[in-house]
Amino acid sequence: MKPVTLRASTFERRLCPGSVQAESGLPDLPDEGGVAESGKKIHNALRMYFSRTVEDVNDIAVVCELNERETIVTKWFVSRAEVILIKHGGMLKYYPELKLDETDDGISGTADFVALCNDGTWQLFDWKSGWGRQITAELNLQLRVYALKVAEKFGCLEIDAHLFAAGNDPADSAFSSCHYGPDEITESRKEIYAIRDACFMPKAPRLPLPDRCKYCKANGNPERCKESFKTPKAFTAIQKRITPAMSLRLKKMYVAFKLAEKAQQGFKQWLKEAMRNQPEAIPWATFSKPKERRVITDADRAFSIGIAEQWFTQEEFVRECVNIKIPSIEKLAKRIKKQDEVEEKLTEAGVLKSEAMQPSIELVKED
Ligand code: SF4
Repeated sequence: MKPVTLRASTFERRLCPGSVQAESGLPDLPDEGGVAESGKKIHNALRMYFSRTVEDVNDIAVVCELNERETIVTKWFVSRAEVILIKHGGMLKYYPELKLDETDDGISGTADFVALCNDGTWQLFDWKSGWGRQITAELNLQLRVYALKVAEKFGCLEIDAHLFAAGNDPADSAFSSCHYGPDEITESRKEIYAIRDACFMPKAPRLPLPDRCKYCKANGNPERCKESFKTPKAFTAIQKRITPAMSLRLKKMYVAFKLAEKAQQGFKQWLKEAMRNQPEAIPWATFSKPKERRVITDADRAFSIGIAEQWFTQEEFVRECVNIKIPSIEKLAKRIKKQDEVEEKLTEAGVLKSEAMQPSIELVKED
């Protein structure tokens, strides 16, 4: 097969090596719900901000015609990125929408934003403006490709890579970072070149996975790929325009799912009872180790203690903690190496308690 240039943005899909051949010449997938269009607007706004063309995000929102969600996501990404850049002494050089051309490697891409900071560090950012939960920076293959290409382009040995994912709401958002040093860059190079080479094997196999096939142009095209994961008909119906008859069917499905959820809960409850009363009859299941949940009982008091102990400033708290939860406070306190005292001090003040969680059912491993 004649080699083509592999785009960094398609690398997650290339874990199915046959996808290059299967997708060849096919048109792009339709923009379901305008997600791609919305993403383009947010990326454009961020490019404008980080090229320092316009500095006021409200002005950018007007120029780029951002809707409310797009404005929130843009502001969110800008403020988080600024915190990172300031921590590294501000920007010395900056490259929004940095083109990373194909070299001998046959791989190209456009990194959302790269900056060389005054403390000599390189900061690489990838904006995921779409909906849905995202994986962390460390596990993101696309980011790894950018890190490798940036390292090669500028000859840098170390890069901090950040993945900003907006998600559906604050609970789904993910702002994660990882560090690429010389060893990680060398490992990434090996991994990325191995994926590339597999794609160009004469009979590259198809390796379907729901999340992978969802974004593949060959999905649902049996002439190109018989292995692709198909979306059950019931759900493809949801993506079309909803007619009144369909609306009634959706209601029935919704009610059926609710009943199934209830039945599942009832069944689990019954099974737990049976496991307690007659454990010998259910040798294939066991209880998981009981876990504990830490709950803050007085949020105002916990907040005041955190301010007094300098675990965080009010501004940091508002920015980092959507809800007052122990892991978020510990994360903030970690920066001044005080994370170990958080639990102790809040327990002492009587604003933290531990609740035992219900044990869940685990399947017994078969030998
Ligand atoms: S649809 Fe799935 S299995 Fe088929 S080529 Fe695409 S990614 Fe591979």
